[in-house]
Amino acid sequence: MKFSRIVLLIALSLAGPGLQQANPKSADNSVPCKVGQQAPAIGFWTWAANARVEVFIVTADFKADDVSSLIGALNNWNSVSEVTGSGVKLEYQGSTDHQLTCENCLTIMRGTVFDKSKRHLTGLTAFSAKHDQIISYAIIQVDPVLTNAKAIADALAHELGHNFGLLDCYTCKKKSTVMNQFRATNVPNEMPAPTSCDVAQVREAYKELKVRVRPSPPDRDLMDEGEEPVDDDTPVIVPKPPQN
Ligand SMILES: [Zn+2]
Repeated sequence: MKFSRIVLLIALSLAGPGLQQANPKSADNSVPCKVGQQAPAIGFWTWAANARVEVFIVTADFKADDVSSLIGALNNWNSVSEVTGSGVKLEYQGSTDHQLTCENCLTIMRGTVFDKSKRHLTGLTAFSAKHDQIISYAIIQVDPVLTNAKAIADALAHELGHNFGLLDCYTCKKKSTVMNQFRATNVPNEMPAPTSCDVAQVREAYKELKVRVRPSPPDRDLMDEGEEPVDDDTPVIVPKPPQN
């Protein structure tokens, strides 16, 4: 009798972990940032560490709501400036009517840049005086087809990621990074701010800058070579993928 009770206790204790696994608790905080899964790779353009970047917007190109969205996305990146270690501040200076080429200047304007296969509705043109990955000045163009103010904020948050060393990550899980692909044109993905994995990767990018500065990155189309677009019938809305 006594013996069989011990056997039963052992059996229950063995079953314990199994029961816990059957009812898992969410542990999102401990999700790692694996490159290609939750995190974008680094090695792209960067503003110099601690740069005060003067940002100008061709406001005549945008509605008032769009300008607010753009400034919101700038501020979202500013709010992680310390935690990423970049020290970079994107300081909105006001309106302009032309592209600026001053040191540490960023101009945001409209321009036809829509890349159908990659669903980029924004384009980044960066210049480096030393022909390395450090930006001297840059221009971000927002395609005229992008008219939804929230989608504009999401697109700028993504494009600014390309200014902090981040590459696209089309294989990354939904909502894990702002460097993911947009699933539809003009539909907000509700990601106007860098994620924790974006912050982690920008930190890596600026850590690396202290050790070595890479040459100016090649054209983004070349960087993305080998990545298959999910679909090529944009700007049509793509159905949601099946949930895993
Ligand atoms: Zn991109």
